[in-house]
Amino acid sequence: MILTVTLNTALDITYHVRALRPHTSHRVTDVTERPGGKGLNVARVLAALGHAVTAAGFAGGATGRSLRDQLAGTPGVRDALVTVGGATRRTIAVVDETTGDTTQLNEPGPAIAPAEWSAFLAKYEDLVRSASAVALCGSLPPGVPVGAYAQLVRTARAAGVPVLLDTSGEPLRRGVAARPDIVKPNTDELAELTGSHEPLQATRDARRRGAHTVVASLGAEGLLAVDAEGRWRAVPPRRVQGNPTGAGDSAVAGLLSGLVERLPWPGRLARAVALSAATVLAPVAGEFDRRTYEELVDQVTVTGGATAA
Ligand code: ATP
Ligand code: MG
Ligand code: MG
Repeated sequence: MILTVTLNTALDITYHVRALRPHTSHRVTDVTERPGGKGLNVARVLAALGHAVTAAGFAGGATGRSLRDQLAGTPGVRDALVTVGGATRRTIAVVDETTGDTTQLNEPGPAIAPAEWSAFLAKYEDLVRSASAVALCGSLPPGVPVGAYAQLVRTARAAGVPVLLDTSGEPLRRGVAARPDIVKPNTDELAELTGSHEPLQATRDARRRGAHTVVASLGAEGLLAVDAEGRWRAVPPRRVQGNPTGAGDSAVAGLLSGLVERLPWPGRLARAVALSAATVLAPVAGEFDRRTYEELVDQVTVTGGATAA
């Protein structure tokens, strides 16, 4: 199984309104609720690709119960969340159907108590031993130490399990120094880590800081992967219009599924780019249509190779 870690889980609520205007009341035309937080998005996409997934993280309160009820209805995803005293945060997206624009309201979420963090660590150490790969995704909730991802990376490496890290800021800086197998920063996260806005230079710098492989996501420009053997560029067939929320999470799911299936880099990157473009195109943020994905995957251009590092 693939283990996903979502320390900052959320119940994602999406409201649709015809047109959003301040100082007026709105009739909601559609409302959806689903388990959220980056690692849970990754888990859902991996399960849709046919992988068995165990989802670790935190959940609490009535919102946490709703999240878990919905997770129970997601085939292929096993709930290994640690129950906490505080209530899981909600994120509220209001979609203006006229413009397509989304207004996002994110609750900060409950602080994690030291005993809850310890309970998580014990569970994680146990789960890692039966995992084929680990994904550590998203921001840290209040109460979790800033070096948390560095610790989780070290535990996975000690168990000999490949680990991918997708976060930002200081947790990313410390996590990279713990030598993860893969990091997947976007251009902003990479620039913040390295001080460079030039993707190839920044990617090489991130490797020097400890990451074995860096897969930089460049928005509509696709992916740049650099490891000890070489470098590869994968470009989507076209810039697509839609909601890019969760595109990075779909890219992570594509990379990890390709890793455990031992796909060579070109196939792995083509999958990641096609999945994320299909996610941008899907009407619901973070979802994708399988047919759209299958059409796109053969149209992704991958260049580079083992000697081009
Ligand atoms: P997230 O919000 O999920 O964390 P991110 O900022 O980490 O996303 P991005 O670099 O924005 O990640 O997007 C991830 C991938 O999605 C890109 O590498 C690319 O393959 C694909 N993608 C994003 N936007 C577009 C687009 N407009 N057209 C085609 N593909 C896109
Ligand atoms: Mg982005
Ligand atoms: Mg991202």
